[in-house]
Amino acid sequence: MPISPENRARYPKDWKAISHRIRFDRAEGRCECEGECGIDHGDRCAAEHGKPNPMTGSNVVLTTAHLDHTPENCADTNLKAMCQRCHLRLDAGHHAMNARATRFRKAGQSDLFTEAAA
Ligand SMILES: [Zn+2]
Ligand SMILES: [Zn+2]
Repeated sequence: MPISPENRARYPKDWKAISHRIRFDRAEGRCECEGECGIDHGDRCAAEHGKPNPMTGSNVVLTTAHLDHTPENCADTNLKAMCQRCHLRLDAGHHAMNARATRFRKAGQSDLFTEAAA
């Protein structure tokens, strides 16, 4: 997931090193998702960095996800190595909520329930 300009400044200077440590030292190049993304993997996502994703067949690029979507929070417990599929799913839920909140603010309260049902 590309880091947007307004978010880039929120990442710590040593983010690259942190991200590398999480993905390759702790996770040993494997997706650490255990269903946080909303996909039911059974136990743990089987994707491995540089190998074809068992579900999609496309090459896995491991990323580091913030479980609480807060780039400043780089505690190990808030970080998970995730394949792009899991990371996108994790962020999609978050983005949908943000978009809904933005539309809600723009539209005013009357749209709350139609938005929530969408
Ligand atoms: Zn995964
Ligand atoms: Zn997952």
